[in-house]
Amino acid sequence: MKIVRFLLNGKARYGVLEHNEVIREISGTIYDNFGSGSNTLNLGAGSYALEEVKLLAPCEPSKVVCVGLNYRAHIDEFKREREGVPEEPVLFMKPASAVIGPGDAIVYPRMSTHVDYEAELAVVIGRECRHVEPEAVSEYILGYTCGNDVTARDLQRKDGQWTRGKGFDTFMPLGPWIETGYSGDSNRVRLYLNGELKQDSDTGKMIFPVPVLVSFISRIMTLVPGDVVLTGTPEGVGPMKPGDTVEVVLEGIGCLQNTVEKSPEPLGTKGLEQEKT
Ligand code: MG
Repeated sequence: MKIVRFLLNGKARYGVLEHNEVIREISGTIYDNFGSGSNTLNLGAGSYALEEVKLLAPCEPSKVVCVGLNYRAHIDEFKREREGVPEEPVLFMKPASAVIGPGDAIVYPRMSTHVDYEAELAVVIGRECRHVEPEAVSEYILGYTCGNDVTARDLQRKDGQWTRGKGFDTFMPLGPWIETGYSGDSNRVRLYLNGELKQDSDTGKMIFPVPVLVSFISRIMTLVPGDVVLTGTPEGVGPMKPGDTVEVVLEGIGCLQNTVEKSPEPLGTKGLEQEKT
């Protein structure tokens, strides 16, 4: 089942996408019955054509917990900076303010001259999750979507930690929907930049698979409905520039497409210098 969040007449709503063309609106929230045994959604009367609505990011996370260095071949492409496979998952976070939906523009910040794409499988949490064993994690996952862990690589390197480089507004595209029937054990993950294949791997190559990741995170912080766990990117990351179109394609889920645009905000380095004086 595909759960979408969409904008119609100025109001954000949830729905179920049927046959890739019709959205049945959901009353209540998508988490109401999750984990109750039935997992049923309350379908409302409203029904809309997919093309008449604007799709939004399919959930509203309180936090996005991300995993770095979770594919060997991606670690190898940064070999000069880091040796070996981590003993435990390497975590960082993106603020909720970074989230954008399918079709939205990634805004290229003036502070950076090197902004990379990173195709990733995103896990959407369906119920409160704290101290959960790996074997039980599937009971807490509502479904999966596509994510792009947009990264200002120059700032990530410069700062030595990742908050600024990964945390800009618009740096967390999610979508196009939550696929509840997805099994994330082994599926192709690809990224296209302006139609050209740049990343092509398989979620089965994760060093720490989804049950281990979610269990590990749940021992540190409580995950709540709508929270997102981003599972790391495979090899092939590279830079984008304003005017580009970037697509994350996950087999069994769909395609998340975004564009890249120049920052419209006038405050650049010059503004910062003025602030200092
Ligand atoms: Mg990443």
